[in-house]
Amino acid sequence: MGSNLDYEADHFCPVYRKVISSDLCYDSLCCLSGEFKISSTKELSEVKDIEYARKICSTCPYSDLNGGMDEWNG
Ligand code: SF4
Repeated sequence: MGSNLDYEADHFCPVYRKVISSDLCYDSLCCLSGEFKISSTKELSEVKDIEYARKICSTCPYSDLNGGMDEWNG
C-alpha cells in the first residue's frame, strides 16, 4: 500500500478538500511543516484553521516525501 502513490500527479488534498496539483501540494506541505511561511502560499492563507490543517497534512501520505513508505511494505 502507498508505494504506488504518484507524487507528480494531481491528487485529492484533505486540507483543501479538492484535487490540487503536485506543486500546490509541495508548497502547502512546506508551509504546514514550518519551512515556509503560511502567507507564502496564497491558497493556504485562505484556510481558516491552520493548526487543524497541519495535523491533517502531517498524516497525509503525500506529506511523506522522503520515501518512508518502505516501512509499509514489510
Ligand atoms: S501532503 Fe498536505 S498539502 Fe499535500 S495533499 Fe496531503 S494534506 Fe494536502
